[in-house]
Amino acid sequence: MKHLSILGATGSIGVSTLEIVAAYPERFRVVAMTAGKNLDLFAQQIRQFSPRIAAVASPDDVGRLKELCSGLKVEILGGIEGLIAAATADETEMVVAAIVGAAGLVPTAAAIRCGKDIALANKETLVTAGHLFMDMVKEYGVRLYPVDSEHSAVFQSMEGHRSQDISKIILTASGGPFLNAPTETLAGVTVKDALNHPNWSMGRKISIDSATMMNKGLEVIEARWLFDVPVEKIDVNIHPQSIIHSMVEYIDGCVIAQLGSPDMKAPIAYALSHPERVATGVKPLDLTLFSGLTFFRPDMDKFRCLSLAYRAINEGESMPAVMNAANEVAVEYFLEGNIGFTQIAEVIEGTMNAHQAHRVTSIEEVLQADLWGRTIAREICRKRIA
Ligand code: NAD
Ligand code: MG
Repeated sequence: MKHLSILGATGSIGVSTLEIVAAYPERFRVVAMTAGKNLDLFAQQIRQFSPRIAAVASPDDVGRLKELCSGLKVEILGGIEGLIAAATADETEMVVAAIVGAAGLVPTAAAIRCGKDIALANKETLVTAGHLFMDMVKEYGVRLYPVDSEHSAVFQSMEGHRSQDISKIILTASGGPFLNAPTETLAGVTVKDALNHPNWSMGRKISIDSATMMNKGLEVIEARWLFDVPVEKIDVNIHPQSIIHSMVEYIDGCVIAQLGSPDMKAPIAYALSHPERVATGVKPLDLTLFSGLTFFRPDMDKFRCLSLAYRAINEGESMPAVMNAANEVAVEYFLEGNIGFTQIAEVIEGTMNAHQAHRVTSIEEVLQADLWGRTIAREICRKRIA
């Protein structure tokens, strides 16, 4: 029996994780879970999974959640202390880190410091503070399992191999909904168009990141830390069918890839049950149904966010945290209909241009860089609206 804390239980990853947990009650038990805003769904989940601790992001929501959970035996907490309590619960062996955004950093760090293994979905953890988290993982001797499908694919393609034998990591990208849209039409796309991902069903923020290809940029940075490979050895291939989830090329010229139907339940289940595998209900892959799997290089001028992510990791230090913060702000403004799609990259670039990268040696300093990036990005967004 593996005891789990699920951070971000009401999100796209959280819900898929709970489907797997529900299918294997003899394997997994939920000790604690957290949510941001969707209290009705959260209350239903609490009823179904009977965690000992349930924490909501805002202390103001504790009263309402207590009402929704009246009669249930659960400790209801709120605010960052609540999230930390959920991440560090005594019985918990593995924490599923599936909060979206920089809000995921502190609870995940707390979990590692308490010796919990991590199933990591939250990209921002490694994007903004990769060197610090990987040092902590070593120091506290915990295991970090990637949930992101590309990183799970790389992880699976590396099992049984030595990292020094890797010559290249090739992350695949669907190219998102605008892969074939002419560059000059991008300025006019709507929020609905941008949320309409061709292959994957995901949360709103990551769906926009997929449309701008910032998602792939974040994944390049994540891969750099997770697999300790220099960024020059990480390539992106557009692969519109999303069947090969990523590949590893070795020095002898052999390439190992992981394939499957695009469904996050597969990488989530592997992170939870490694080294064993469990049935997930993911549609089996019939390659004979595909007339061709295609691959090509991304257009870095069209998808400016991807080149900004490469620039951020090359400048290093505080720059990825600032870039990530500016992206979160810009995506929020876009989702609210306040800036246009192509302005997302402009806001990020403007914020990065205003920043002088400096060393970051603690999570607190990363969060300061994050706050700085948000403030500047908001100023730029407001100017664009005015
Ligand atoms: P989502 O928006 O569907 O869910 C996010 C969860 O975090 C929700 O439970 C929400 O209530 C909670 N949350 C939001 N803001 C919070 C805050 N300030 N404090 C505490 N909790 C907060 O997002 P998602 O698509 O499930 O993605 C979660 C993470 O996993 C992201 O970092 C994303 O990049 C990553 N990821 C997602 C997918 C996917 O297929 N959805 C794939 C790979 C990686
Ligand atoms: Mg991914």
